[in-house]
Amino acid sequence: MLKAVKVRIYPTQAQQAHLAKAFGCVRWVWNQSLATMTATYQQTGKGVTAMTMKKSIPLWKAEFEWLSECYSQCLQQSVLNLGVAFGNFFDGRAMYPTFKKRQGKQSIQYPQNVKILSDYEIKFPGKLGTVNAKVHRDIKGTLKTVTLSKNPDGRYFASMLVDDGIECPESSSDGKILGIDLGLTDFAVTSEGSKYQHPRATKKHENNLARKQKKLSLKKNKTSNNRRKARLAVAKVHCKIKRVREDFLHKLSRKIVDQNQVIVVENLAVRNMVKNHCLAQAISDAGWGMFCTMLKYKAERVGKVYLEIGRFFASTHLCSDTLKPLPKMDLSVREFDCPHCNHRHDRDINAAINIKNEGLRVLTLGTSVIAPEGYVRPKQYGRKSTTIAAVVVEGRSPHSNRFGESVG
Ligand SMILES: [Zn+2]
Repeated sequence: MLKAVKVRIYPTQAQQAHLAKAFGCVRWVWNQSLATMTATYQQTGKGVTAMTMKKSIPLWKAEFEWLSECYSQCLQQSVLNLGVAFGNFFDGRAMYPTFKKRQGKQSIQYPQNVKILSDYEIKFPGKLGTVNAKVHRDIKGTLKTVTLSKNPDGRYFASMLVDDGIECPESSSDGKILGIDLGLTDFAVTSEGSKYQHPRATKKHENNLARKQKKLSLKKNKTSNNRRKARLAVAKVHCKIKRVREDFLHKLSRKIVDQNQVIVVENLAVRNMVKNHCLAQAISDAGWGMFCTMLKYKAERVGKVYLEIGRFFASTHLCSDTLKPLPKMDLSVREFDCPHCNHRHDRDINAAINIKNEGLRVLTLGTSVIAPEGYVRPKQYGRKSTTIAAVVVEGRSPHSNRFGESVG
């Protein structure tokens, strides 16, 4: 099983300076390759493979001496990652790759040769050398790719992909099955009737963020030290909001996976919904995509089943007792009297039960029995990226633990 552990690292001043250069080199190679690949694609209609692009690196190095500052495998990895990004784009899983900016999160990837020396030291190849770290977890197995990153708030992390050599346990669907309806009114509603409110992280920290953004907007001189400090303060609030949200998602997904054997969720095609601007802020805040990824990997690791059912399955438009179609309802209708079974249904719980029943059908028959109008087999957006993302979230720095110990 692949598992990613993210630990905080503490580079010295000199190492930070070196890393700043390395981030710059990797960013430059990415942007240069992206420009070349885009131009070739526009002129000839054909793509350039990452392997071809990789051959340009020695030429660039001959031309720009400063590129040698960076460990060469990191430069190559950057080009290969761009190849993956293009692959995701052509398969319809992702947007067209974008240029990397100097602001925002920076990272470089070491494909091999990183060693954990002790709980306090990690040795990187090249000029970087040994960096102080807080390895807060026992890391057993082979170390694969290591991603070294710097958050906008100035903290450094190493995310280490480890192969522990243990096979995933065989999955079994014997046991309790739970349907989950993800929504805007409540974050999640289960087929058992539990409702979980939104983390509302942004709301809680909104005032703090607004105050610091105001301060930043008053600093007119783009190069001043005070402006840099104000920007750091804003970045810190953003990072805090992110941690609060992730903590909520980790705890809820852990609870659900621990209590159930089969978890059924509707494939929401979150990307499509985020395009709707009115709902965009609320949906991005909600973090449904991340939640589903967490449910998936937490379930698979213990041999439980995570099931996504078709996005066009009409969970809200069926009576969960009689399976008969319901008349169209406005989004504001939260409860209704059913014309078929004469019960009063809660809209979201009814949907969650439908999702659970549909999951049961898929499990026992292998296909969906109900095919209401418009049921189309959805294109599997995000499947590959879900698998990749699924290994990259486990484990957090000891400094995040203020917000929750039971992560992962
Ligand atoms: Zn009914």
